[in-house]
Amino acid sequence: MIGGGLAGLACGVALAEAGWRVRLFEQKPFLGGRATSYVLPNGEHVDNCQHVTLGCCTNLADFYSRVGSADKIKFFDELVFLDPQGRRGTMKAGFLPAPFHMTGSFLTFAPLTIRDKLSIARAMLDIVAAKGKTADLAEPRPISMLEWLCRRRQTKGAIERFWRVVLVSALDEELERTDARYGVDVFWKAFLMNSTGYRMGVPTVPLADLYAGCKAAIESRGGEVSLRSPVRSLRAEGTSIKAVQFDAGKEESADAYVFAVAHDALFDLMPESIRRAEPSLANLSKIKTAPITGVHLWFDRPVMDEPFVTLLDTNTQWIFNKTMLYGEQTGTANHREQYLQMVVSASYELLKKSRQEIIDLCLREVRQALPRAQAAQLMKSTVIKEVAATFSPQPGVDRWRPQQQTKIPSLFFAGDWTATGWPATMEGAVRSGYLAAEAVLHASASLPASGTAPQFLQPDLPPSGLISLIVPKQKPK
Ligand SMILES: Cc1cc2nc3c(=O)[nH]c(=O)nc-3n(C[C@H](O)[C@H](O)[C@H](O)COP(=O)(O)OP(=O)(O)OC[C@H]3O[C@@H](n4cnc5c(N)ncnc54)[C@H](O)[C@@H]3O)c2cc1C
Repeated sequence: MIGGGLAGLACGVALAEAGWRVRLFEQKPFLGGRATSYVLPNGEHVDNCQHVTLGCCTNLADFYSRVGSADKIKFFDELVFLDPQGRRGTMKAGFLPAPFHMTGSFLTFAPLTIRDKLSIARAMLDIVAAKGKTADLAEPRPISMLEWLCRRRQTKGAIERFWRVVLVSALDEELERTDARYGVDVFWKAFLMNSTGYRMGVPTVPLADLYAGCKAAIESRGGEVSLRSPVRSLRAEGTSIKAVQFDAGKEESADAYVFAVAHDALFDLMPESIRRAEPSLANLSKIKTAPITGVHLWFDRPVMDEPFVTLLDTNTQWIFNKTMLYGEQTGTANHREQYLQMVVSASYELLKKSRQEIIDLCLREVRQALPRAQAAQLMKSTVIKEVAATFSPQPGVDRWRPQQQTKIPSLFFAGDWTATGWPATMEGAVRSGYLAAEAVLHASASLPASGTAPQFLQPDLPPSGLISLIVPKQKPK
């Protein structure tokens, strides 16, 4: 296993459970890849960026359970939105069955006008009637989410204060650069199909703490996890893979090689003979990336009571109350100070700004949204710009995403960028890892006596409420 991000960890843990001796090599000194945390020189634990999951992310939930981290994710039923005029809106499920479970909070959602709401309701009913697959998603030229919305005559307010807010955060890309298939899928799976799909899960520990159980799961079954171990290349004779190569001439060989590195790092690791034999490698450079910027602010006093809020019409999209989120798990929150983390997805504009300019901008927006922050003193701050945070879900990108099983018998790929049907998320990464593990078992013919390979991939949330009357439940494979 090359790469100790979520894809490599999910694949490694699954294969270890299936009886394989897994040897995982990660170049960094910690596990978790992009979804990790580290300790600053002053001792402060910071996430690479705040990560959240949703109720519809069934594979990530399964992975957290397998590695003993499920109780470190706290789920919230209410999403709070604030606009610069001081209006507040909440989204939460009420007593109505899916797909109408959010109708109550939607009707009273102050930042949207009646016209905005009517246009959104029309588009939602369109998604429901088409069971998540509106006819225009199957057109030969994939359309952008913005085009999909314009075809449904969405108001400016609906686009700016609803669709853009949800989708830029979920997909890390602007609406005009997002394949409509991904955008529609977010609403179908998270907001319409099941009344719990939208529930937001937030880690109550620094991200790296979620992966302690992975090392144990692999090592207790005879495997090993090696950190600070960058793989430099793959050695092959023709299309027969002989070994992976490390620094100082070290080599390791295996029955199967799973590359779970970022897509833009993979091509350079492959020798010419493998590049020729596996055509999907040549397409990887067509998969573009998108940035996310995280801004961390420490105030000398509490300025916020909610665990998190979404801001409308500002650069800052989310504010997370890290003191509250961490404190709930450990009981160690220092209630005299408050640590907030802001997230800006698709942060192309911020990449051009200096760190100080970004801090000043976010601080202004935080002080406008949270009046108590105006008198509070900013004690310290940091900015983490992830230039290539996720792959960009551009119209038609799916055709460049390779399967986990390659044309080379012992070579497999995993990573959020492989073909999972999901956007670049932790759920997508875990799905890819489970699919790669299934492909390894299938290809190696090391099936148990029963002859059936274990299935790791979990089904989606079942349809609930009225949706269960029109959509049949997914059957296990
Ligand atoms: C700022 C930011 C915010 C995000 N927010 C969210 C969110 O809120 N919710 C969500 O679901 N997703 C979020 N994501 C996306 C999520 O983090 C990724 O989709 C997921 O973590 C990808 O996992 P992966 O294993 O596919 O890739 P990676 O995490 O990139 O893992 C690849 C691993 O391979 C290692 N590696 C690379 N080359 C080598 C080599 N030669 N030898 C050995 N090891 C190597 C890397 O060090 C890395 O650990 C966010 C991402 C970022 C960057």
